[in-house]
Amino acid sequence: MAELRLICVCGTDTGVGKTVLCAALARAAHALGRGVLAVKPVQTGCYEAPGGELLAPDVEVYRQACPQAQSAALVTLRAPASPHLAARLEGRDISVAGLNLDLRACLDQSGADFVLLEGAGGLLTPLNEEESLLDFFACLDASLVLAVPNRLGAINHALLSIEAARGRGIEPCGFVLLNASAPASGREGDLERRIHGDNGAIISRRGALPCLGELPFVPGLLALDARRRERAWEKASGVLSAAAAALCAPCRADTAYAASILDFDREHLWHPYSSPALQPRAYEAVRARGASIILRDGRFLVDGMSSWWCAAHGYGRAELLQSLRGQAGRMPHVMFGGFTHAPAVDLGRRLLEIAPAGLEKIFYADSGSVAVEVALKMALQYQMALGRPEKKRILALRGAYHGDTLGAMSVCDPVNGMHSLFQGVLPEQIFAPRPECRFDALYTSQSAQELENIFKVRGREIAALILEPIVQGAGGMWFYHPDYLYRARELCLEHGCLLILDEIATGFGRTGRLFACEWARVSPDIMCLGKALTGGVITLSAVLASDAVAEGISRRGGILMHGPTFMANPLACAVAGASLDILGSGEWRDRVLGIEAGLRLGLEPCKGFGGVADVRVLGAIGVLEMERPVNVQRLVRYFVEEHGVWIRPFNRLIYLMPPYIISKEELARLTVAVCGAVREGWWI
Ligand SMILES: *Cc1c(COP(=O)(O)O)cnc(C)c1O
Repeated sequence: MAELRLICVCGTDTGVGKTVLCAALARAAHALGRGVLAVKPVQTGCYEAPGGELLAPDVEVYRQACPQAQSAALVTLRAPASPHLAARLEGRDISVAGLNLDLRACLDQSGADFVLLEGAGGLLTPLNEEESLLDFFACLDASLVLAVPNRLGAINHALLSIEAARGRGIEPCGFVLLNASAPASGREGDLERRIHGDNGAIISRRGALPCLGELPFVPGLLALDARRRERAWEKASGVLSAAAAALCAPCRADTAYAASILDFDREHLWHPYSSPALQPRAYEAVRARGASIILRDGRFLVDGMSSWWCAAHGYGRAELLQSLRGQAGRMPHVMFGGFTHAPAVDLGRRLLEIAPAGLEKIFYADSGSVAVEVALKMALQYQMALGRPEKKRILALRGAYHGDTLGAMSVCDPVNGMHSLFQGVLPEQIFAPRPECRFDALYTSQSAQELENIFKVRGREIAALILEPIVQGAGGMWFYHPDYLYRARELCLEHGCLLILDEIATGFGRTGRLFACEWARVSPDIMCLGKALTGGVITLSAVLASDAVAEGISRRGGILMHGPTFMANPLACAVAGASLDILGSGEWRDRVLGIEAGLRLGLEPCKGFGGVADVRVLGAIGVLEMERPVNVQRLVRYFVEEHGVWIRPFNRLIYLMPPYIISKEELARLTVAVCGAVREGWWI
């Protein structure tokens, strides 16, 4: 069987032209031996046939042009208005997710391999309050053919549509000119003919897009008698024969291409904590939207990971992408040595507004690990500048994770962080036990006893204490009591040590507070931010420090010895600013509370299953700790194949931290999948 081709046809002000184009393309593809399905995703202006059946006018045209092709309308509405309005008038709701499900069902049923989807109006035609036709097309990963009415104004219309499509990662494969009227005769007609001839050339050149053909004007096509109509359709499909063949040619959607991606990946690309030779095949993600990641074969996976804490607002948030595009148009990057720019300053203002009290200075870096390096250097330089050269060790906690660069690794859990592998290379730090007092248990002062002892014995050597506030993330997804953090703050003050809080994972609402340190009403001397800082769009981190730290380092002309090439990258800063705007609406609070309730309810049954050591939930984080390490490969396959969800366990942990915008139903899919995996023993 031939490869499936999905082709969207779109354009503005074409009147019936788009439909004629679709119908003629259907006929041309059928003539090439393809199994054709012509779909009108949303048909407005439907009318009742004498039998009471609701007729979709465009579908009637497809049938007329190519009776052998299958055809369907997914949503039929009566009012001849924009889809969002026509739907509202009938008290109905159109959504991209709904259209996608309807389309998949239609594809399965038809068995077609050449599928045309005709837009309703132009690309930005609204489907509902938030989504447009372009959103629907964007999640299909389909080809796009633009229908361009050939007249004055066509160039601007067409080029704007091309730009809009490309801005959403849809590369149009060509355009078809529609001659909507016959040029007048005489001098006037001469100019019109010039315009018609020029339009195609300019659009093709400026838009870097081939003209796939020019449909002739047939007056009253749909009302012609059967014989002449048949001749007109034959002619129109003949004009598009080469276009149809081009649309059938091998392309990026092919399985051979998809296989080659997976092969190269496996042969040549490292993935996190893996070896190219040993790693199992990865899944190929082509797009992401809302709380879903879309695979090349069209499957939607509900995301339970937020791409490792990052994508807090979900994928494809219009505000984030717009700020990224806008900044890309102005200035994607400029060196921060000697220059400053509004995105860095605006972001800085916003960060200081929401940061814990006392933090006044900001260092932008490019990843979490680098932020931790910078924080450690700040602490060491500060102590040296204050004339305390003996303070050159960092105190860290067992079970901690702070990143993968050498300095950051030195403060990770010595066992998980594989310190033995780098013995003699990593700086030797001091470790306190993991705080054993649970977040949800009663705190006793006994819990910080060991930490106190270490400070008592080695306080003189300690430059700073670094810890992840409240939630130890990648080191074990452990939630400890806020009073422990409070006590740690006191001990640092008593012993002249700085407190570095690594909020890279916990920051921006994940634990139910904007920053996890708010649970303990504690302000650090230095704070690291990353991950969700840009809403998961692009890498950026920030190190915030108190005036005292900054002034200490600057004593006697001291400077902070760090300066990444991409420091304060304007693209990243602009997106981070937009992400903070989204957080600023405060909507995340209720959403995180809702997720917390959903996780508690959904994971509750697991408490009774064999092999489960602990179930814990805090904010938008849900954790199942098993008694033994789990079978990650088997679980991931089960989650993807059986439940259509993306959950990636590690070690003894199966955990969820979905994007805040996840719906109740999507969240339930995640928890049901986790319960199923444990109940049915897929983790073993
Ligand atoms: C992820 C993480 C880091 C490292 O961030 P990268 O951007 O991966 O370098 C550091 N600290 C914590 C707490 C993290 O979760």
